[in-house]
Amino acid sequence: MFEKYEKAGKIASKVREEAAKKATAGMKVEDLVDFVETSILETGAGLSFPCNVSINQIAAHYTAPPNDDTLLCEGDIVKIDLGAEVDGYVSDTAITVIIEGTNKEPVDEDGKPLKMPGRLDDGNPVVSEEELEERHKIQEASAAALENAISIIKDGVTLEEIGTIVQDTIEERGYKPIANLTGHSLEQNNLHAGLSVPNIRGKNPHKLQEGDHIAVEPFATNGVGLVGDMAQHYIYSYLRPRPLRQPDAKQLLGRIKKEYPYFPFSKRRFLDQYEPHKLNKAMQPLIRARAIYPYNPLKEKADGMVAQTEHTIIVEKDGCHITTL
Ligand code: MN
Ligand code: MN
Repeated sequence: MFEKYEKAGKIASKVREEAAKKATAGMKVEDLVDFVETSILETGAGLSFPCNVSINQIAAHYTAPPNDDTLLCEGDIVKIDLGAEVDGYVSDTAITVIIEGTNKEPVDEDGKPLKMPGRLDDGNPVVSEEELEERHKIQEASAAALENAISIIKDGVTLEEIGTIVQDTIEERGYKPIANLTGHSLEQNNLHAGLSVPNIRGKNPHKLQEGDHIAVEPFATNGVGLVGDMAQHYIYSYLRPRPLRQPDAKQLLGRIKKEYPYFPFSKRRFLDQYEPHKLNKAMQPLIRARAIYPYNPLKEKADGMVAQTEHTIIVEKDGCHITTL
């Protein structure tokens, strides 16, 4: 079991670092997602969840839908969140990058600004020097909060001690942790196994024990420190079998149940069988019947910029072991 967690962690950390280097201005989000997911699958591991690429005020739960033409732009603050699973033993890790490169505003062949319908933030504003500097500081606040949390994690540490050090680290730097996003415990075939690891202080005397597997993921923002659901959905989880009339929907649910009984998935995984339009049509009844659960992208409530840093950690007697280092 330990070896499998370790292997899942190593795969994810290698792909995370490669993806962070690849993410440059002008790159399609779809190509970045494809790179991450293909790289993980090529090792023989599965995906713990679809690769999330969440831009600017989007904190989490965006992945490229079929034919997404969203582009990464210079100055974007981008969360790349990914994970591998080996026999159900998962890793979950995220890094935030500030996009460098030369494209100010993507244009078509005629020089007209490209419309980016898949982009969920407010388009592609030109980022000033000061804004760019602040985005780097938000990114650093999130990374420092994770580092400080890791420094206190060992057998017996309470969840409130972790929440407190995360909040203090981010607030010392003038930003806010996102209160309604948390880390979580991990178990075989279970990405969110019951325990929440808070990013804010508050009464939570639960003590972590040697051998616990957790994902710690501080989010920092210059907004109000809360996220809300957007209307769209690009990531789904299987819930339960349901009687369905439409043959396409029935067949799709059968495939989902077989291939993704435990872990979230995106539409991209079924493009070998369905045209994007047909896939959307087949999926609607599954959502309505609550056979699958749609995750809405999460947006900072004051449109603040958001950074996230995440590692998967095993609690040890006198410290902890990071599987995704
Ligand atoms: Mn994650
Ligand atoms: Mn996580």
